[in-house]
Amino acid sequence: MTEQNTITVENATCTFCGCVCDDMILTVDLDEKRITKAKNACILGRAWFAEHTIEDAPAALIGGKDASVDEAVEEAARILAKARFPITYGLSDTTCEAQRVAVAITDMIHGTIDTTTSVCHGPSGLAFQGVGESTMSLGEVKNRADLVIYWGGNPAESPPRHFGRYAVTAKGLFTPGGKKDRTIVLVDVRKTPSAAAANIFLQPKPGKDFELLWALRALVKGRRLNPAVAESTGVSLEAMQDLAERMKNCRYGVLFFGMGLTMTRGRHFNSGALLALTTDLNEYTHFVAKPVRGHGNVTGADNVVSWQTGYPFGVNFSRGFPRFNPGEFTTVDTLSRGDADAALIIASDPASNFPKRAIEHLHRIPVIALDTKTSATAKLARVAFRTATYGINTGGTVYRMDDVPISLRKAFDSPFPSDEEILKAIHKRVRELLLAGGSYGVATGNKVAAPRTE
Ligand code: SF4
Repeated sequence: MTEQNTITVENATCTFCGCVCDDMILTVDLDEKRITKAKNACILGRAWFAEHTIEDAPAALIGGKDASVDEAVEEAARILAKARFPITYGLSDTTCEAQRVAVAITDMIHGTIDTTTSVCHGPSGLAFQGVGESTMSLGEVKNRADLVIYWGGNPAESPPRHFGRYAVTAKGLFTPGGKKDRTIVLVDVRKTPSAAAANIFLQPKPGKDFELLWALRALVKGRRLNPAVAESTGVSLEAMQDLAERMKNCRYGVLFFGMGLTMTRGRHFNSGALLALTTDLNEYTHFVAKPVRGHGNVTGADNVVSWQTGYPFGVNFSRGFPRFNPGEFTTVDTLSRGDADAALIIASDPASNFPKRAIEHLHRIPVIALDTKTSATAKLARVAFRTATYGINTGGTVYRMDDVPISLRKAFDSPFPSDEEILKAIHKRVRELLLAGGSYGVATGNKVAAPRTE
């Protein structure tokens, strides 16, 4: 629908968080190049759309000075082609198409690629490999789930539409009464605003998630528990027994887990215990588990890096083939040890949230940053590209937190190139430099003389 200089874009997608709501109705002022209304968006989504206006800024900077995109691509390619231990990081707020090119560049320069998963649900990624995953789509949850357990998260505040669109008040085929047809359980060390939506709230002691999950596994299997478990976990035996019976006797149960589980003491053991409990419950009923993801396409990053390398994050190509070793090849660790000699940071701002030692090392090495705004990382970067915003200025593909791919629909054009366009240009130029040899791609250390094919 067109009316003067205003258009309406229906079925647009909000890429602010992992819910990736694709029912947005956007009103776009084409003169001012901004979204004036985002119908169906939550408060976070509305802020996301309102903030993404086109700023009057250079498309690229080299050493803080204005540069053309071509000059910046040349400088970035030279840095990456010369580096002996380059790292690529970020990727959770860009399209799968851009992520794919980032993997190809990293493979070609024998670098290390890592995503923001390593600082959020990385432990879950390890647990999935060790224990396995009983999974589902959020549509299934909406239509079928009659027992919904949130563990270590606060979806009432983030992601706000998880309750209404999928898991609590959503009315589905076999849950026509919405919340009336479900039992909602919240397990968290503090009473967050999400507790108001829960029928049952369990508050274990901090750091006791693993013990509580293991106790529930025992109860589900019919074992008797030592009463001391209640004292240890902070949850009464009666409450544990009640939850175990509800889990065994529901029609379709789901365990959603957040960083309150994965990033506290126990980490991947906690995630693994929750996944093992889910597996146990499938002896009795249909039970599934899913992490609640934060960034708009962090799930896409996991998928793309996995399908290209075999591993979800923290992957190193120094030997010419992918190796996975969290703690060694995850970016916080690589930077904190001072290993990396160049960094390609895409749609992420580690300079604002990494530990001090890691940030100090970023200041010492040439950084190439791709971002829609002037982030702390862009400010310290040797080469900084300003890019178009995915889902607002570009199409492409993202993965919702349940691994469902969703196509984006752009609202208006940006004068800035997309991440994918810049990365493709860098990829092409790095390849030319490596093939030309000279001081690039010389066999020094782990680096080889010429790139392999993409
Ligand atoms: S829940 Fe997330 S994806 Fe949906 S509108 Fe809100 S911020 Fe956007």
